Amino acid sequence: MNRVFNFSAGPAMLPQEVLERAQKEMLDWGGNGTSVMEISHRGKEFMALATQSEETLRGLLSIPANYEVLFLQGGASLQFSMIPHNLMRGKADYLNTGVWSKKAIAAAKGYGVVNVAASSENTKFTSIPAPETWDLDPQASYVHYTPNETIGGVEFHFIPETGEVPLVADMSSTLLSRPIEVSRYGLIYAGAQKNIGPAGLTIVIVRKDLLGHAITSGPLMLDYKIHAENQSMYNTPPTYSWYIASLVFEWLEKNGGLVAMAEVNRKKSEKLYSYIDGSGFYKNPVELSCRSWMNVPFTLPRTEMDIDFLEGAKKVSLLALKGHKLVGGMRASLYNAMPETGVDALIEYMKAFSARHGEG
Ligand code: PMP
Repeated sequence: MNRVFNFSAGPAMLPQEVLERAQKEMLDWGGNGTSVMEISHRGKEFMALATQSEETLRGLLSIPANYEVLFLQGGASLQFSMIPHNLMRGKADYLNTGVWSKKAIAAAKGYGVVNVAASSENTKFTSIPAPETWDLDPQASYVHYTPNETIGGVEFHFIPETGEVPLVADMSSTLLSRPIEVSRYGLIYAGAQKNIGPAGLTIVIVRKDLLGHAITSGPLMLDYKIHAENQSMYNTPPTYSWYIASLVFEWLEKNGGLVAMAEVNRKKSEKLYSYIDGSGFYKNPVELSCRSWMNVPFTLPRTEMDIDFLEGAKKVSLLALKGHKLVGGMRASLYNAMPETGVDALIEYMKAFSARHGEG
């Protein structure tokens, strides 16, 4: 079997141990003589998995008791609408630092006044505006931001200070990559398909006092309170994705939790940035202070080299390095499941490629 190093931005690679365990349990999960995806979500077996997985996740992130954890569907994109649906009272502040921020802003517009308190669009989203320049409104219902912009490779290495105004964070491409201070946030959400598990599951961590304020005329399915009251089982949850996520949580716990993960993730990204910066061949456009640990975009000296680079990479089992079409070039995503040896293999290949092209 030839498992490749998969640098996909998402759905992304999962820990091999998790996949092997899922394979082993496929036909007979927990001695039940059936796979986990063939049983009722309301039965005691799946309910036990749901309870245990929430407990493990709470432990990993040290989630305080005054927060609900919801296991939902609809991806992070549905959260772009659910957040204003539940929280917007007239107006909200948004930080615009990339493609995903923009999408969140677009979805919120129908719900009230959206104040773009800061934007880095003028730098083509390669920076984060200095907090002193943000035009935050103390009367806003919440402040929304994207701690890690998956496409631009831009990351906040600090938590925005918003006073009494709840902070809402799209952590799709960063949740579980390191410890976070949950109590600084009103709401955190993430699509699962990067560090958490397969697509189909969306995690929402929300402070309890923010529940129960949804627009009453809208669909009940968009109301966080309904999901909280029903332990995320108001309708059928994505049971198989939830199960895989539960295995990922266990894997994280067994491997030293998020402190250990942070150390490895920092090291992997530093290695790659340091090679890129010193290469004189590859370039990363993002300001040093806000480079992402998770998604590392880089360009080659000429775009005509891109196809050759990607084809050669595939031949040495380095997959999915093509950058997003809006940014171009390459992008290496280094989520939790990417081992340091994957980064080493990528750097070796990049060295060989630049040597072959006589410019490095
Ligand atoms: N926000 C961020 C930061 C993302 O990276 C993505 C997906 N790449 C999304 C939102 C959209 O997620 P989904 O496809 O789960 O709706």
